[in-house]
Amino acid sequence: MKVLKFGGTSVANPENINRVKKILLNQSEKKVAVVVSAFGGITDLLLKTSQLASNQDTTYKKGLGEIEEQHIIAIKELIPVKSQSAILSKVKSDLNVLETLLEGAFSIGELTPKLSDKIVSYGELLSSFIICEFLKSEGLDATFKDSRQLIITDNAYGKANVDFNKTNQLCNDYFKANQHQTIVLPGFVASSNSGDTTTLGRGGSDYTAAIIAASQNGDVLEIWTDVSGMFTANPKLVKQAKSVSHISYEEAMELSHFGAKVLYPPTIQPVLNKEIPIIIKNTFKPEDIGTHITKNTNGNGKTVRGISHVANISLLSLEGPGMIGIPGISKRFFETLSLENISVVLITQASSEHSICIGISDEDVDKAVKAINDAFAYEISNNKIKPVIVETDLAIVALVGDNMKSHQGLSGKMFSTLGKNNVNIRAIAQGASERNISAVIKKADVKKALNSLHEEFFEENIKQLNLFVMGVGNVGAKFLDQIAQQRKYLKEELKLNLRVIGISNSRTMAFNENGIDLEDWKTILANGKKADKDVFFKTVESLNYRNSVFVDNTASEEVSQSYPNYLKNSISVVTCNKIACSSDYTYYQELKKLAKQYNSPFLFETNVGAGLPIIDTLKHLIASGDKINKIQAVLSGSLNFVFNNFNDSVTFHDVVKQAQEEGYTEPDPTIDLSGIDVMRKILILARESGNQLDIEQIENESFLPKESLETNSNEAFFTSLKDHESSFQKLFKEAQDAESKLKYVAQFENGKAKVGLQKIPKGHDFYNLEGSDNIVLFYTERYPNQPMIIKGAGAGAEVTASGIFADIIRIGNF
Ligand code: ADP
Ligand code: ASP
Ligand code: MG
Repeated sequence: MKVLKFGGTSVANPENINRVKKILLNQSEKKVAVVVSAFGGITDLLLKTSQLASNQDTTYKKGLGEIEEQHIIAIKELIPVKSQSAILSKVKSDLNVLETLLEGAFSIGELTPKLSDKIVSYGELLSSFIICEFLKSEGLDATFKDSRQLIITDNAYGKANVDFNKTNQLCNDYFKANQHQTIVLPGFVASSNSGDTTTLGRGGSDYTAAIIAASQNGDVLEIWTDVSGMFTANPKLVKQAKSVSHISYEEAMELSHFGAKVLYPPTIQPVLNKEIPIIIKNTFKPEDIGTHITKNTNGNGKTVRGISHVANISLLSLEGPGMIGIPGISKRFFETLSLENISVVLITQASSEHSICIGISDEDVDKAVKAINDAFAYEISNNKIKPVIVETDLAIVALVGDNMKSHQGLSGKMFSTLGKNNVNIRAIAQGASERNISAVIKKADVKKALNSLHEEFFEENIKQLNLFVMGVGNVGAKFLDQIAQQRKYLKEELKLNLRVIGISNSRTMAFNENGIDLEDWKTILANGKKADKDVFFKTVESLNYRNSVFVDNTASEEVSQSYPNYLKNSISVVTCNKIACSSDYTYYQELKKLAKQYNSPFLFETNVGAGLPIIDTLKHLIASGDKINKIQAVLSGSLNFVFNNFNDSVTFHDVVKQAQEEGYTEPDPTIDLSGIDVMRKILILARESGNQLDIEQIENESFLPKESLETNSNEAFFTSLKDHESSFQKLFKEAQDAESKLKYVAQFENGKAKVGLQKIPKGHDFYNLEGSDNIVLFYTERYPNQPMIIKGAGAGAEVTASGIFADIIRIGNF
């Protein structure tokens, strides 16, 4: 015999029930037991409606109306008109009884567990009857059997315990006598010894099917549901999760116990004893192979087979000096919980015996706290034990696999992955079977934790980076284009999956949890919400994605002040904005410290020399033990442009104007011409070489006349340049006489930094510097006379964007 079970979604509506029929028409076995759940959503609705009724809230009638309607519609759509009336009248009479039961709950204002089971059983009773009639009308040799006449339990309503002796006997008698090919049975429902309706716990239809399969030594138990098997993680939360083709009973049990809802945990026990294989199949994709659960799969060479989680967990801790060395405390503790029927999901006890800590379901907390405090009232009054300590809003994540015990380092990998993503671990337990490692974490971190762990253990090292980009002007726009172009390559060659989740300019911002379409980001942004940098941060924080990176392409001081918020949440920061690193030394230090503390890289390669790898090289020199003696550099693309074009046949004014018009200077050209921009850059290099320095300590011999420096508008500035043309011509002449060229040079030596215009003679490394190129000479202990030179385009949107991109890739390899 074969047993098939169809879950709520599989029978949610006439269209789906037709799929079920097709699957059943393909069965060649002589005997098939078909266990069905209530129509999707009906169990929840019955429970909600009965709660409302017992609260004497008349809106329960609305719920009842919906329940009636859904069943009547199913009959009308599924059953041929000529056979409808008999079926309708049976269903209507059942619905009348249901109505009477709800009225009862309403009038006495109470819902006993016994009444609740009676009410909720109508979900399965109605669905199985209607489906059976439909199958008959479609020509199947089908019959209906009420599971309450086969499965006998105690009277622990809501989650009753099966009496297997009686149940197996009844099943044997029934199936032996039955002559039909297909027997349709309601899942979930059973009856007590005294004949009252009981239920087997939420999700219990799986269990019904397993009980029947085991009683008949079935060939196979098929669980038909809405996913193609047991996945490496809940596919609703982890998009990359994959169905596992083979898994052992123990692994499946462990995964389902830790929250893989696809299989109700008690289901496995009865079939495991008889070694009946379970196959999980998808009603909506019957061709998929699904998951085969059998005795031993040897893990197919895999250590971790799945990751699951249980939400809504609370931790209770009992601690106090009176617990040390005194036997029997744990026994009393667990006895108390057991008497209250509270199941303990996780236990940890420190070897000091100073405390016991357990994880239970949130809904049991009040009951548990009261019972424990009562049980230890004497010790509590003597200060030997503290009143029980409660922490709520937690969840358990668990790694599961038969072969985990023979592999070292898995828990280390698990905890470092969680740690890197700022997921705080509240408690840890490793099952004695070593088939699972569980960690208790905040409920809000579950999705991030599952995805990070999944990436680490299942995704063949493809790492997803989630980018949040602020500033999409020249540089930002180029950066987004470059990502769009390179995504495929990065995924295939570097195993990096880059997604841009949020973008913002000063006017609007937009988010897409699955990644913004980079072909269309301009329109998406234009139609976004009003920009707000605090809301932007809050959104990044609440999305709580693993491997998040905040990218600052602005020149805004305000934005640069938000970096600590990101870093403290383990969100990396990549920026071309120079303000943070050139502001107060204490702020720069704080950012560096946070980056280290929270394991979140803070990278700003583009602060000096755009895309040139200047800071990265400096870091490598220092990390490998070298010491910087001197730095000499030309770091301003704008000033280079100006002095490369200035001579005695043009005016200084015109050259600066041209530089401004062609985008080589900041909108306010004094920032470049005064040397401030260069001061910031040499400051950053000095700091990165390990020196404590502030901008005020940098000597700046400005070549601009004082009057030009003190202007307060662009217009006044340009006028003053005209007024001082002769002094600029003088500078040029002096350089020409000395067969030199004018270059704006930054220098750092012996703890001192200075910037200024210099006459560079022929033969010097700086003499032939073209256009807007930058050059840096590092004189170090290893390069004392011949410096290490980095030279190339040091300005422009394209190269700056590529420098930001390089920082992102560095984070990917971190
Ligand atoms: P049914 O109504 O068919 O019994 P359930 O809703 O009880 O279906 O179980 C199927 C659901 O279990 C899936 O839709 C999925 O959301 C959830 N689920 C959780 N963890 C897993 C997992 N590891 N593999 C597959 N499904 C899972
Ligand atoms: N209908 C019940 C529930 O929703 C049992 C089941 O579907 O397995 O919990
Ligand atoms: Mg289920």
